[in-house]
Amino acid sequence: MDRLQPAIEAALPLLREMRDGLGPQPAASRAALARLAALKAAPAPRSAAAPAATATSGTSPKIIPTQEWTLDTLRATALACVECPHLVRSRKQVVFGVGNPRAELMFVGEAPGADEDEQGEPFVGKAGQLLTKIIQTMGHSRDTVYIGNVLKCRPDMPAGSTGNRKPKPDEMATCLPWLKKQIDLIGPKVLVALGATAVEGLLGETRPMNQLRGRWLDYHGIPVMATYHPAYLLRNQSLSEKRKVWEDMLLVLEKLGAPISEKQRGFFLSK
Ligand code: SF4
Repeated sequence: MDRLQPAIEAALPLLREMRDGLGPQPAASRAALARLAALKAAPAPRSAAAPAATATSGTSPKIIPTQEWTLDTLRATALACVECPHLVRSRKQVVFGVGNPRAELMFVGEAPGADEDEQGEPFVGKAGQLLTKIIQTMGHSRDTVYIGNVLKCRPDMPAGSTGNRKPKPDEMATCLPWLKKQIDLIGPKVLVALGATAVEGLLGETRPMNQLRGRWLDYHGIPVMATYHPAYLLRNQSLSEKRKVWEDMLLVLEKLGAPISEKQRGFFLSK
């Protein structure tokens, strides 16, 4: 309970925001809210320390203001989310995100697949390995950027089937408040949306990727570059498609004011 209490205190403001209608309401974590409220109502153990971000007064701890959320408290709360019963039944774990909590550059994919569900980290399968190479070619690493998904739990699959499925719009809308708060706390200068499904989940944009990529979109004042999902590049290995993604990443580097070498500028150009 000692370790649970900070998470309980931290959970309530966001869940109330969700309930009261900030952003797409994840039919808003009613189950989690009820569970956490019940936990909060339980008498605190005498030895329970006040959470660092919680101002306490006598026996009535004040709920921490929303702006005092940290990525750690958000993660702890999201990991306990039970808002989508069908996904809770099938998931192995919630895949929250990974990387630098102060990253200037944040990549957003659609949802965890089987490998991510197994390891608890986004983009660790074959498509993830390709994303890692792209990030490294940009002069970054997985530790200097942040990587997350619109949907934090693996979309369930019919019994006996393998592979992954795309998240449905209603599933993404339910989960979106976690990502929104994640972006708020990280404060990236640039977002990269990987694949049309991620763009739809993040921005509600349903145009095909060939109409979205290569130009700047906007998420509450943060420039967003949409580009093909690495899984697309695994299916389509042509130099021209790789070059399109790379050109999008060059635009991202320019937006970040990062130096770009001639070698970087020339990647995937046909000789
Ligand atoms: S998908 Fe998102 S909203 Fe649904 S249970 Fe997982 S973390 Fe919660």
